[in-house]
Amino acid sequence: MAKIVCTVTNCYYNNRMGCCAPAITVDGNSAVESRQTCCETFIEQKPGVKSSVSEPNSNTEIKCGAVKCVFNKAGICQSADVVVNGKNAQVSEETCCSTFKS
Ligand code: SF4
Repeated sequence: MAKIVCTVTNCYYNNRMGCCAPAITVDGNSAVESRQTCCETFIEQKPGVKSSVSEPNSNTEIKCGAVKCVFNKAGICQSADVVVNGKNAQVSEETCCSTFKS
């Protein structure tokens, strides 16, 4: 469980740079650096699509496929704070978990 700070402000789940999703999945099975990871849960906020109105979570569950990260224990992120980046991302591959550390 982690508090997520996320710069992907055009994500459906983003509210004031916090994440409103109850759980996210980070991908990056062969990642050795953060830019090779991504937030699979990203959904682009399209014009006309209703914005997420819920409040950001302070304890989001993070399933993580980046097995080379030091915070990954059995596919779950153990870091208390996580930063996700990817300003103006249009697809999940343009986001990344900046907390990744190998
Ligand atoms: S990109 Fe991922 S971490 Fe950021 S708000 Fe969207 S679902 Fe949450």
